[in-house]
Amino acid sequence: MTLKAIRADFLHCLADPGAGAGATACEDLADGLLVIRDGLIDGLQPAATLLPLLGGDIEIEDWRGHLVVPGFVDTHAHYPQVDVIASHATQLLDWLERYTYPEERKFAERSHAEAVATFFLDRLIENGTTTAAVFCTVHPQSAEAFFAAAEQRNLRMIAGKCLMDRHCPEYLRDTAESAYRESKALIERWHGKGRLGYAITPRFAPTSTPAQLAACGRLAREHPDTWIQSHVAESKSEVTWARELFPGSRSYLDVYDRAGLLRERAVYGHCIWLDDADRARMAASGTAAAFCPTSNLFLGSGLYDYRQASAAGVTTGLATDVGGGTSYSMLTTMAEGYKVQQLLGTNLHPAELLYLATLAGAQALGLAHRIGNFAPGKEADFAVLAPAATPQLARRTGLRENALDRFFALMMLGDKRAVAATYVMGNRF
Ligand SMILES: [Zn+2]
Repeated sequence: MTLKAIRADFLHCLADPGAGAGATACEDLADGLLVIRDGLIDGLQPAATLLPLLGGDIEIEDWRGHLVVPGFVDTHAHYPQVDVIASHATQLLDWLERYTYPEERKFAERSHAEAVATFFLDRLIENGTTTAAVFCTVHPQSAEAFFAAAEQRNLRMIAGKCLMDRHCPEYLRDTAESAYRESKALIERWHGKGRLGYAITPRFAPTSTPAQLAACGRLAREHPDTWIQSHVAESKSEVTWARELFPGSRSYLDVYDRAGLLRERAVYGHCIWLDDADRARMAASGTAAAFCPTSNLFLGSGLYDYRQASAAGVTTGLATDVGGGTSYSMLTTMAEGYKVQQLLGTNLHPAELLYLATLAGAQALGLAHRIGNFAPGKEADFAVLAPAATPQLARRTGLRENALDRFFALMMLGDKRAVAATYVMGNRF
């Protein structure tokens, strides 16, 4: 058995602050002690209460002056796109064809996939992100490389081989049959191995034939505890295209519904151009949305209405959508998410932003029993934030005692420089 403790200020969400609870949904503990037993959270209490009770042999890592928050959960990202981030294009479909598809071709080489997976995970960790739902390329070896790299770091990660059998370059195409067979082999090899989970990953409906989507539905039925991830209703031109390709469906989302791809642990990126019936269907089926503010702004896709989704009962997680998104930092992503909601006339409470990046992401992925806050028994994944990481932050955060106020400044002004350390299962990375 290993036992250790972290001494710092702590901030985490116990519930959804938007559901009338406000700041009371957050626990803010100044000079607390987080006790970790075998990588799991044993308890969080004031240091003054707990210190006299602890034996002298417990190792205490002293982060006084720092703010510890749960590890960030990025509910939608593409690891093969690290080299296309910040590429100039008009909109989504143009961006895919000009940059993304040619780059994804390189992942036929296992060694390239391994190098990029390592680079991507290093970026997540330095930004305090400890869990993500990740798209690989169409090549099974791209998923193999990603899972192996995540396993080596003991990270809780969800990923899947991308499925595409039309409307993309020939060199990135699989078929309905190979999509099924290769996904099944990857599920058997990686799903539930250590902290890893498999996501059935059709890229988006326009690049899958109805036969391939049906194969995805079959996989989802045969493996009900796997995840499902895809994109829906990101840009207006994509919605028009999807509706032309599937005239028998009521809406773009309905294409996935008919294929049996809406359920718990299904997470769809963007969800901007949905209607009330779509949102009701997502809520009823337990399907979650990934809100990708930097990507939506960068590609000019639209503004995701968080309040409207929440009112309909849809669970939303926050996501970078790297490389359509422009930052690995969930601090930056929270800041941009805040601004998107401001444009929609919605003012988010700082507690709601923390919630979106941690517990809500865990809920969106069906992992709230394992990660998302410091409840006893959960896995000890967390980020140590440095309120004085930059001269501006030092001035601003030095003025206020309130942890949520300091956290708000950290997200508005911070980036990876504000992440002093990231811990995975209680171990510093
Ligand atoms: Zn995406």
